[in-house]
Amino acid sequence: MVLRRTVRSCRQSRGGPLTHLSGNLSPPNPRERTSAPPVIHLSAPDVGPLEESYLVSALRSGWVAPVGPELAAFEREIADRVGVAHAVALSSGTAALHLGLLALGVGPAHVVVVPTLTFVATANAVSYTGARPVFVDCDPATGNIDVALLAPLLEQLRSSGRQVGAVLPVDIFGSCADYSALLPICAAAGVPVVEDAAEALGAVHRGRPAGSFGHAAVLSFNGNKIITTSGGGMLLSDDGVLAERVRYLSTQARLPLPHYEHPEVGYNYRLSNLLAAVGRAQLRRLDHMVTRRRQLRKLYADLFAAVPGVRLLAHSDDLSNCWLTCIVVDPEAAGWRARDLADHLAARGIETRPIWKPLHLQPAYAGAEALVTGAAQHLFENGLALPSGSVLTEHQRATVLTAITAFLDN
Ligand SMILES: *Cc1c(COP(=O)(O)O)cnc(C)c1O
Repeated sequence: MVLRRTVRSCRQSRGGPLTHLSGNLSPPNPRERTSAPPVIHLSAPDVGPLEESYLVSALRSGWVAPVGPELAAFEREIADRVGVAHAVALSSGTAALHLGLLALGVGPAHVVVVPTLTFVATANAVSYTGARPVFVDCDPATGNIDVALLAPLLEQLRSSGRQVGAVLPVDIFGSCADYSALLPICAAAGVPVVEDAAEALGAVHRGRPAGSFGHAAVLSFNGNKIITTSGGGMLLSDDGVLAERVRYLSTQARLPLPHYEHPEVGYNYRLSNLLAAVGRAQLRRLDHMVTRRRQLRKLYADLFAAVPGVRLLAHSDDLSNCWLTCIVVDPEAAGWRARDLADHLAARGIETRPIWKPLHLQPAYAGAEALVTGAAQHLFENGLALPSGSVLTEHQRATVLTAITAFLDN
C-alpha cells in the first residue's frame, strides 16, 4: 500500500483565468454548450408558502439583524431531530467544517484524512486551518470512504511521524459512511472524527441519524441540499464545550462584555435569524421531501433494473435520504457511456452531473498525499447523477423517465 503524491495535469492547469471569465459563472461543461438551459434541474430548492410565511413572520417580528429567536429555535429543532445535545447555526456547511476542525485543535501541525470522492469544501475547510488533507479512496459499491484502507493509512501516517488531527468521513449523496466499522478504528488510533453530513440530513445508519456520529458533525443548507436556507450550515455535537467554542469563534470571538473584547481572531460565520426561519419551515417538510426523493430513486431503480451494464450507486443497507441518485455505467456491457445519456438528456433540457471529480485529481490539490485504488476515478468517469429533487412534479418525473427510456430504446 503506497501513499502517493497527486500530480498536476498540465492541461488542467493551463486554462488561465480568462477561460473562466467568459460570461458563464457555472463551471464549464462542454456537454451543455450547445443545449438550451435545463428546465429540469438536478436538485432545485423545494420552497413554497410555508417558507414564505415563516420568513415574513420573522421579518415582521423585528429580529432582523442578525441573531434572534428563530436561530435558537432552529438549532433546538435540528438538535432534537438528529438526537444530539448541541447545535450551532452557521453561514455555510464549509464554515461549520472549518470551525469544527479548529475547535478540535486542528492546525498547521496536522494532517486530516479526507475521502477523495467528495465536494471540494470538505478539503478546503482542512486547508483553512493550515492542516493538509490526505486523501483516501472510496468503496466502489457505495462511493463512501473505503474503511478497509483506513487502519493501514492511519498506521502509515503515525509511523512516518505525522500527527493526524481528525478523520473527516462524508455521507456521500445522502448515504451514511460505515460508522460501525469506522468509529472503532479511529478510536483505537486516538483520532477524533468529524462527520461531514452536509448531504445526509434525514438519513439513518443502524438506527442512528446522520449528523450524530463522531465528535462533531456538519450539515449544509445550501440551495441544492436536502433542505435549504438559501445558504447556511450547522455544527452538531454532544460536546457542549466544543459547541460553545464554535459559537464563540463564529461571532468574531467576542466575549460577553459590554464593550467589544476579543481575546483572539474570530470569524463572521453565524447564520442570520431570517434564514433560520426558512430552515424551520424546511425542517417541518423534511420527511415529505425525503419520501419524494426515495420514490424517485425507486423509479430509477425499476427503470434500470433490466438494463445490462448499469447499476445504481449503492447505499449502505441503511436508510439513505436519497439526496442524489447516481447510476454507474459499464460502457462495454451497456454499449453506451454515461456521458451519452447526459448529452441525450441535456438536449431535452434535463440536467445531470458527473459524480464528484476526485479531489486527488483536482489542480487545487496537486501534490497532496493520497491513498487511492482507482475506485473514485472509476465512478467519476462512469457515473452520472440524475435529477433527484423533491420539487420535481409528477409531469417532470415522467418527462425524465420517458427521455431515459427513449435513449435506452435506441
Ligand atoms: C455542500 C457540501 C459541503 C459544503 O456546504 P456549503 O453549505 O455549501 O458550504 C460540504 N461537504 C459536502 C460533502 C457537501 O456536499
